[in-house]
Amino acid sequence: MIDPFVLRIEFFEGLVAIDEAIVERAAAEPCRECGGALHRGDHPRKPRGGLLAMAGEAFSRRFNLCCGQDGCRRRAMPPSVRFLGRRVYLGAVVILAATVSLAAATSAAATRTTGVPARTTRRWLRWWRGPLTASAPFVELSARLVPAPERQRIPQSLLERLADERPAAIAKLLAWLAPITTTSCPDGSRFLRAAM
Ligand SMILES: [Zn+2]
Repeated sequence: MIDPFVLRIEFFEGLVAIDEAIVERAAAEPCRECGGALHRGDHPRKPRGGLLAMAGEAFSRRFNLCCGQDGCRRRAMPPSVRFLGRRVYLGAVVILAATVSLAAATSAAATRTTGVPARTTRRWLRWWRGPLTASAPFVELSARLVPAPERQRIPQSLLERLADERPAAIAKLLAWLAPITTTSCPDGSRFLRAAM
């Protein structure tokens, strides 16, 4: 059975506040290349929310940092709880649409609920069960969850273990995954711990 569940604007305002705290922390550190000061260099994105997270489409700036030193200008993009890497859909949708498709009788029914094409959701499910499980944040998270979450029901099995309320569970999972949302900011999890 599908439980149509829509993420509201307050949820995304909360994520923006976390992303703001992350970028502030990251900006306090010097450029890893030259030691110069980092400045804000946000860039626009056009995130899709599908039918589950349309409210999140309004928050389209990806917070970013750039070294101010002439000749360096190295980018240092901090982790984000809103954007899951380069995916067009918001990170919350990558979680929620995958859980809907796990519960739906058919992929057509899932698409009617999520607004996300079935082939996209299938790709996400392969990612949830495959490459993600080899990532450091996932290994660290699943080590904390005893017994380990059922592999075939990820991400639903992760959400059930993180919080009783679904928005809180999604936010927690996004925070755990945030370090993998950027490659130009090694060990980004330290900013998450400070921001949460
Ligand atoms: Zn620099």
